[in-house]
Amino acid sequence: MAARKKDQMEMLWQFIHLLTDKSHPDQSVEQALSFIADSLHLGRLIGELQTEPAVSHPKGYYEQTVFYTSEAGFTEDHPLKISYQVKEPGTVTLTAFSRPGERITDERQMIAVMELVNLAAESRFMVEKADRESMTQFLTGLPNAGGYMREAARKFQAGVIDRYDAYYFNLTGFGLINKQFGQEQGDEVMIRYSTILRNATEEDEVLGHLGGDNYVALIKQGENSRKFRELIRNVDTYAMRANEKIPVSIGAIAGMMKVGPTTPVEQIISGPAIACSFAKKTTAPLIVLDDELNERINRRKTVEQKFEKALANQEFNVFYQPKVDAFTGELIGAEALARWFENGQMIPPGDFIPVLEDSYRITELDLALFRLVCRDIAEWEKEGKAVPVSVNISRRDLLDRSLFEKLEAAIREFGISKGHIIVEITETSSDLEKNLMMKFLNQLKESGIRTSIDDFGTGYSSLSILREFPVSEIKLDRSFIDKKLEKKDEIIIQSIIEMAGKLNIDIIQEGVENEQQRDFITGLGCTKIQGFLYSKPLPKSRYIRWLKAGGIPD
Ligand code: C2E
Ligand code: CA
Ligand code: CA
Repeated sequence: MAARKKDQMEMLWQFIHLLTDKSHPDQSVEQALSFIADSLHLGRLIGELQTEPAVSHPKGYYEQTVFYTSEAGFTEDHPLKISYQVKEPGTVTLTAFSRPGERITDERQMIAVMELVNLAAESRFMVEKADRESMTQFLTGLPNAGGYMREAARKFQAGVIDRYDAYYFNLTGFGLINKQFGQEQGDEVMIRYSTILRNATEEDEVLGHLGGDNYVALIKQGENSRKFRELIRNVDTYAMRANEKIPVSIGAIAGMMKVGPTTPVEQIISGPAIACSFAKKTTAPLIVLDDELNERINRRKTVEQKFEKALANQEFNVFYQPKVDAFTGELIGAEALARWFENGQMIPPGDFIPVLEDSYRITELDLALFRLVCRDIAEWEKEGKAVPVSVNISRRDLLDRSLFEKLEAAIREFGISKGHIIVEITETSSDLEKNLMMKFLNQLKESGIRTSIDDFGTGYSSLSILREFPVSEIKLDRSFIDKKLEKKDEIIIQSIIEMAGKLNIDIIQEGVENEQQRDFITGLGCTKIQGFLYSKPLPKSRYIRWLKAGGIPD
């Protein structure tokens, strides 16, 4: 009897020793149990973690771990169970099953063993919890980028990913909610919003919160996806103020991508994210990433990749479009327009200017073009036939704080007259840009360089520009003349022209394609014209013929 007790003590020590073996943490529980299982007639031991419901897991999180299964099998009769509250919050339950046709020999010892296993397992559950936390967004508890990608990867592995639509969406107006109700209520609203979406999705769909107001989701194609799309356009919830529920609506701008069996896993977030950023630009509530958009995006990528080399290889060229006095037919100036020639093939500005603007690389091109123009003007000045050339400066360039100094340095370097350069820039409605533009225009004015407001009339602030900005010229947008105008529009154009005259601001109409348009605008008092009626933008060699003739060449 004493000997048996001693054996059992010995076994228990061995068990504890194995259980706490740090060198093989994964196997230690199983090894320790197999050492003691025969004497206890243990068939199987499982642990179950069940957490309370949370946004991320509306039904709570459940996980089962099998610690040990005997080769002799087990029976589900007379299981021995113990439960513990865990901090998660939730419970861990351990259940011991005996071998078939047998009972656990010593229940008290079995329970002691289970408690020891629980201690060992708890640290394991803790590790897993930390792992789960690193995979969730701290505020809403939804999967973060890592957690979301893990779920997506699982769907790839299971071969079911092509049943889903992948979404990326950005909430609209959340900044306002934070402002109105404070950050803390803002957080609460975000949690409520997340809960509504989570409840509207199914168990095997995934909703992720990347942080801030950016969300992602994998929603089953067809009806589910259609409903989801409808839902995120407008979610009604509330914010609390002084114990009162104030209704708030949350909208979203979304990008969506149908996932195919060959879609690369890394595009699960980036694909719809790109579509979402396109949606923002077009102000459409949802943009679907399809073949056409993909093609566009690829073209953009190619542009970005090729740009630097193209600039170094001097693939960019200046074309000059003559500006003409409609009464005398005289050449009064030109606009410099960028042209990209790749292996003799011309890429139109519409294909690269917006891309370069988006990636803030337009400044490099504008400065390069500006220098090319200065070089040409120097040549023409020597020959005594220079006329002013307008050079386009993108509003993005204003972020370069030494833009003005760089332009001035180029003018100095080529030794040209400031009177032969006009800086052309489009109007803006953003406050930040307005301040930068005001400063830039003033610098130019003080240094004696003329300025022109491009596409005048397309923005919101046209008239205040005349009053506020120190500009030398405005260039009326093509839209003024390309459609049949109402009497009201005519009156507006006429008063702009009159006002400009009184303020000593030059005025020019661009995009004049035919004689009716010319007669219309000259009739309103604007005689300076740029447009296909006189000439398309020309390569330098052909523009020189205009310079020589001082007007339309023979
Ligand atoms: P923009 O500055 O408004 O330039 C005028 C555009 O209208 C030019 O297009 C010109 O070819 C076109 N155009 C001129 N007359 C007519 C006409 O009678 N009818 C029609 N339908 N179009 C006419 P382009 O050269 O394709 O340039 C497009 C835009 O790309 C420019 O519009 C400008 O915003 C931008 N861009 C071109 N070169 C540069 C550059 O060097 N720097 C920057 N930042 N932007 C540039
Ligand atoms: Ca222009
Ligand atoms: Ca223009």
